[in-house]
Amino acid sequence: MRMHINPVMRKHFLLTVSLCASLFHSVSAQATLNVFACEPEWAALAKAIGGDRLTVYSATTAMQDPHHIQARPGLIAKARRADLLVCSGAELEVGWLPLLLRKSGNADVRPGQPGNFAAADYVEKTGVPEKLDRRLGDVHAEGNPHIHTSPENILLVAAALHQRIIELDPDNADYYSAQYAVFEKHWQQQIKQWQQQTESLRGAKIVTHHNYWTYLNEWAGMNVLATLEPVPGVSPSSSHLAKLKKQLSQQEIKMIIHVSYVSDRPSQWLAEKTGAPVVALPATVDFQDGQTLSQWFDEVVQQLLSVK
Ligand SMILES: [Zn+2]
Repeated sequence: MRMHINPVMRKHFLLTVSLCASLFHSVSAQATLNVFACEPEWAALAKAIGGDRLTVYSATTAMQDPHHIQARPGLIAKARRADLLVCSGAELEVGWLPLLLRKSGNADVRPGQPGNFAAADYVEKTGVPEKLDRRLGDVHAEGNPHIHTSPENILLVAAALHQRIIELDPDNADYYSAQYAVFEKHWQQQIKQWQQQTESLRGAKIVTHHNYWTYLNEWAGMNVLATLEPVPGVSPSSSHLAKLKKQLSQQEIKMIIHVSYVSDRPSQWLAEKTGAPVVALPATVDFQDGQTLSQWFDEVVQQLLSVK
């Protein structure tokens, strides 16, 4: 049987072929690496360095608790296609990432591979327990993993991530270096500004819900009197709160801080008893809405300064 190809069909066929070719070409010249970020802060940082050469996906939003998420099929599919995984590390994702990686079957992004980047490896961590006791709750055995809350840490991670992206995509090295230089310069300027703005917070006595803002508190020189959680990851019971109230009764508390994704009830309870104001800080960048790291940190600083 002979197939008849008329001129119209032929034209359509050629058009389709050339369209596919140009589409493929534009895709390969633009986005080259698929980045899977565990948290929005790393998605935003990868985007700042990688620009349009990276396709960046964030596994979580600013309103999700990164300690606990579901390794759902959509996430597994994204991890399967990833060339580079950018996560906090230091066991923050220990409850879901190992399973996700196993299910994805993607050998390139396993720990130890160039496609696996753990931000916490590049900063000095606080709160590393001398003795490990899992009875002490969701202990962060490798130290506090919420490293993005210090702007100095962001600089350290940015430098390392820039190197890693170049290692994976050397053809675009000049582009990434130029992007990184712009980010680094701007961030340095921002740090100076944030330092001046937060000068008044030095020595302020605060209470936090979880030890989420440890690096920010250290950076800003704030003094954490207590955390509402008896141990990390365990919600405060009413008896624990009552104990805290008694313990803090002689103290001048400047504010009680919690991240927006947790219930504010324990904070509000203590606020009522002590008269200290409650501040809900955005845990991280609203990446899905196009927010940048610097816009997010500006918001954090403004919230802290809103307390008189
Ligand atoms: Zn934590």
